[in-house]
Amino acid sequence: MTIVGHFINGEARSDSERTQDVYNPSTGEVSKQVALASKETVEEAIAAAQAAFPAWRNTPVGKRAAVMFRFKALLEQNADKICQLIGDEHGKICHDAAGELQRGIENVEYACGVGELLKGEHSKNAGPQIDSWSEFQPLGVVTGITPFNFPAMVPLWMYPMAIACGNTFVLKPSERDPSSTLFIASLLKEAGLPDGVMNVVNGDKVAVDTLLEDKRVQAVSFVGSTHIAEYIYTTATANGKRCQALGGAKNHAIVMPDADLDNAVNQLLGAAFGSSGERCMALSVAVAVGDATADALITKMSEGMKALKAGEASDKSNDFGPVITRAHQQKVVGYIDSAEKDGATIAVDGREVSVSGYEDGFFVGATLIDNVTTDMVSYKEEIFGPVLQVIRVDTMEEAMALINEHEYGNGTCIFTRDGEAARYFSDNIQVGMVGINVPLPVPVSYQSFGGWKRSLFGDLYAYGPDAVKFYTRRKTITQRWPSSGVREGVNFSFPS
Ligand code: NAD
Repeated sequence: MTIVGHFINGEARSDSERTQDVYNPSTGEVSKQVALASKETVEEAIAAAQAAFPAWRNTPVGKRAAVMFRFKALLEQNADKICQLIGDEHGKICHDAAGELQRGIENVEYACGVGELLKGEHSKNAGPQIDSWSEFQPLGVVTGITPFNFPAMVPLWMYPMAIACGNTFVLKPSERDPSSTLFIASLLKEAGLPDGVMNVVNGDKVAVDTLLEDKRVQAVSFVGSTHIAEYIYTTATANGKRCQALGGAKNHAIVMPDADLDNAVNQLLGAAFGSSGERCMALSVAVAVGDATADALITKMSEGMKALKAGEASDKSNDFGPVITRAHQQKVVGYIDSAEKDGATIAVDGREVSVSGYEDGFFVGATLIDNVTTDMVSYKEEIFGPVLQVIRVDTMEEAMALINEHEYGNGTCIFTRDGEAARYFSDNIQVGMVGINVPLPVPVSYQSFGGWKRSLFGDLYAYGPDAVKFYTRRKTITQRWPSSGVREGVNFSFPS
């Protein structure tokens, strides 16, 4: 059976002492094994990145950008293969995988403009014949630790900009769907990136903890669940590293009585069930303002859900695929069971779904739950499955209050025709990414991505302008070239 290994110092590598099964979630079968890197293997990757740093840092910025231009072209040329690898191991339908890849490529495009982004700041005559400027220097070896749900896009949030800024990189992707990530990294070599600048180690906690503890690693970017994000942030910062750790989510959509309901329903169907709800920006809670809105929403959603088709990743006619593992399938079903036990109404039940020809796949059908209340476990926790819960409230203030009280603050959205209400909502809601009649307000690559509250630990967001700040360190230089005219005696007072 194929063992998915590592990519270290420009070469495919494997240490197969410890391995883990990789599944095809559509069939439920084990399709590959992934090597789980030992401490020594991770240290080898860090050493390769450390050795490559001095030359890469001094490579002219235009030459670094040129690698990114070629990398972008290679990603486009290999799009079908990448989407197939994503589908085989994640289960994401090919049209959805293509969307993921496109959003990743846009981050490479932004990194192509790194020359513009690193120009720095200059002050002439900051003092008598003194010039002062700030430049933005790379940190050294930096690392990314990424989740299963966007195996192409989330790593592409990180290393293109990190590398373009002159850093070298060690990536630890999700061990559950490692192949697309590994293949994409190998394209960087084809794009002309020197060996050692980009390295990938597959693995588990052993690999992650090695990266968090090694003194040579300067910064850690993490995306994954909140519990692990908090662990990564506290451990990395305790070890003196810069860290940004993006965590989980519970994204609410407020449906106002004046909303265009047919439009809201279409948007909710895609945002709640696309990618089987396994998106950190998935809309998993609809907050209906007024019982009439809630009743109409439930009726129209139930009707719309009849047409949804769950199925295998390569079939374009499917709307969404399986969830990632059997254990996760059982967990999602467990949340639906618990909502029912807690008194919610299961309006559309996806627990018994069966996909013809794929009976052993990890499928959960689209599920709609009405009369959910804020004390239910299914409301408090992130389900990460194709489940939309509906909460009924009387006013917009009530809807906003429950969003603001939730521990997560990643994304949210309001469906309304009232500009004043929308403006009040976007101004006052305690959430990092806000949509107005836009269900998945994922910022474009030249903005930055991040949630509030326990959806992000750290100060700087992912990608966009914040990534340039995260992957560089400011150095401010003050310079004078004395000539006989300006030479001074000793001065003991503070320069002013
Ligand atoms: P996860 O937290 O299980 O895994 C993420 C990474 O952490 C993986 O590389 C994994 O190997 C590693 N890891 C797991 N357990 C670890 C441990 N005990 N010690 C050290 N490292 C460990 O997340 P996942 O299930 O792969 O991804 C889904 C989660 O990611 C969801 O909660 C989702 O909301 C979140 N997510 C957030 C964003 C965002 O931008 N905020 C984006 C995508 C996904």
